[in-house]
Amino acid sequence: MGVEGDVDELEHHTLVLREDWDPHFDQIFDEPAWPEDPAYYLCVPSETDDDVAPEGHSNLFVLVPVAAGLEDTEELRSEYRDLILEDIAENTGADLRDRMVFEEMFSMSEFTERYNSYQGTALGLAHTLSQTALFRPPHSSDAVDGLYFTGSNTTPGIGVPMCLISGQLTAEAMAEEEEQTRTRPI
Ligand SMILES: Cc1cc2nc3c(=O)[nH]c(=O)nc-3n(C[C@H](O)[C@H](O)[C@H](O)COP(=O)(O)OP(=O)(O)OC[C@H]3O[C@@H](n4cnc5c(N)ncnc54)[C@H](O)[C@@H]3O)c2cc1C
Repeated sequence: MGVEGDVDELEHHTLVLREDWDPHFDQIFDEPAWPEDPAYYLCVPSETDDDVAPEGHSNLFVLVPVAAGLEDTEELRSEYRDLILEDIAENTGADLRDRMVFEEMFSMSEFTERYNSYQGTALGLAHTLSQTALFRPPHSSDAVDGLYFTGSNTTPGIGVPMCLISGQLTAEAMAEEEEQTRTRPI
């Protein structure tokens, strides 16, 4: 969101957790559904970086974690938009609704359409036991010689530090296979 004016009521990072956070976790992991009382992450990068919003404006980002593969409609998005904006206003005093100059929503449909992401997941394969460590997809293809993979769907997994390690492991796998090809007797 881009809004007019400052939002001094908010810090750069805010994690909003409900007193009873179990239902939302259950609705992510056990019984996938849109959360009734969502926890969310609220970020105001313009609190600490003047370059991310025009003069006299602020830049905010809200992330509501949800399970992959849920129904994603305009009505649902609109409902959650209103719910979150009301929650921010009520709990922090920062009412963003009447000074919004830009807003964009990005959810499962965009991850599916733009990235062909399975069930619209934003993060990639979950770190369940059968998708972790040696069970996670490797960096080189068993089926096609010279085809390599990297990033959050491969080992070691999700998150920027993990993906940097993944890139390094892929580069090492490529170098190793190149070395083996070069030194293989004809
Ligand atoms: C909202 C959100 C918040 C997050 N917060 C954090 C956090 O705080 N800390 C953290 O460590 N991780 C966080 N993550 C996770 C982290 O961003 C990812 O795990 C990581 O960026 C994945 O890296 P990647 O290289 O696998 O994929 P990406 O970073 O998604 O890179 C893939 C790139 O490939 C490009 N691409 C796709 N298809 C094509 C194509 N056909 N041709 C050419 N290019 C293509 C895409 O445009 C993209 O630039 C967050 C993720 C999301 C979605």
